[in-house]
Amino acid sequence: MTLLEVNNISKTFPGRNGAIVRAVSDVSFCVEDGEVLGVVGESGCGKSTLGRSLLRLIEPSAGEVLYEGRDIIGLNRKDMKSVRRDLQIIFQDPFGSLNPRHKVGHLIGEPLDVHDIGSRTQRLEKVKELVEIVGLPQNAIDRYPHEFSGGQRQRIAIARALALDPKLIVADEAVSALDVSIQSQIINLIAKLQKRLSLSIIFISHDLSVIRHVSDRIAVMYLGRIVEIGPTERVMANPRHPYTHSLLSAIPRVGEKKSRSNLSGEVPDPSDPPSGCAFHSRCPKVMDICKQVRPKLMTHFTDVGGEVACHLFDK
Ligand code: SF4
Repeated sequence: MTLLEVNNISKTFPGRNGAIVRAVSDVSFCVEDGEVLGVVGESGCGKSTLGRSLLRLIEPSAGEVLYEGRDIIGLNRKDMKSVRRDLQIIFQDPFGSLNPRHKVGHLIGEPLDVHDIGSRTQRLEKVKELVEIVGLPQNAIDRYPHEFSGGQRQRIAIARALALDPKLIVADEAVSALDVSIQSQIINLIAKLQKRLSLSIIFISHDLSVIRHVSDRIAVMYLGRIVEIGPTERVMANPRHPYTHSLLSAIPRVGEKKSRSNLSGEVPDPSDPPSGCAFHSRCPKVMDICKQVRPKLMTHFTDVGGEVACHLFDK
């Protein structure tokens, strides 16, 4: 069953000298119950803005977000508060997302206080349960965030995000600030909790090698738009869009010290995007039409699943 349906979401910001920064443009996708959708792209491609727009942590400029069939854009504060119980976020920086003046027990239980859920004793029991399922020692409750390592702090942030028994979590670069060895522990924890709690997750990362371990499907973003989306196995084994190829080539193989990335240049300025296909200035397969006409995201290969936006596949 579809839990979240995103239709034509866009987000613009005012830029310098009256320019408009198009951070997210006309993005549509669905997330099913219990599904993990990975969203990948370089820094500046709009994926974090997309994640925050979906939860209305920043207001989208256009489009609709249907949660269980109801458009949450435009809900008033009171109605949005009840929806927020189901939609949570884990941020990249476990140092910045936890108030250093509060003990961990308070930080994890705070959402229960805000939503006035359970008695004091029930809240404490819930906090103890959450501490246990994220793999922290029970005495963590009476300690402060600064007493923990980065990985442990991210476990605290995960416990806090789970406090209200959400149905969908946006994990926004949730492991990017951690050491590589700790990253895999947190990825494994998220994967374990996703199965145990049947969570839907939108897992945002710039790193395709991280995304592939947790995602059922992968959406590749470039300059505010989805350029390819499909089942993880297909995208990893048979990427269609040249940008997906480039991201894949940047993953070092076992025994290789250097990445084989063929991606040159930077993501263009979103306040002055290239004409036609936004990737044309960096694409090794660019054709004349690419500079003039923006390709639409379309299903080209019904047998393998997914959609791609690229003129290479025009009929
Ligand atoms: Fe490259 Fe053209 Fe495809 Fe864009 S549309 S990715 S420039 S081949």
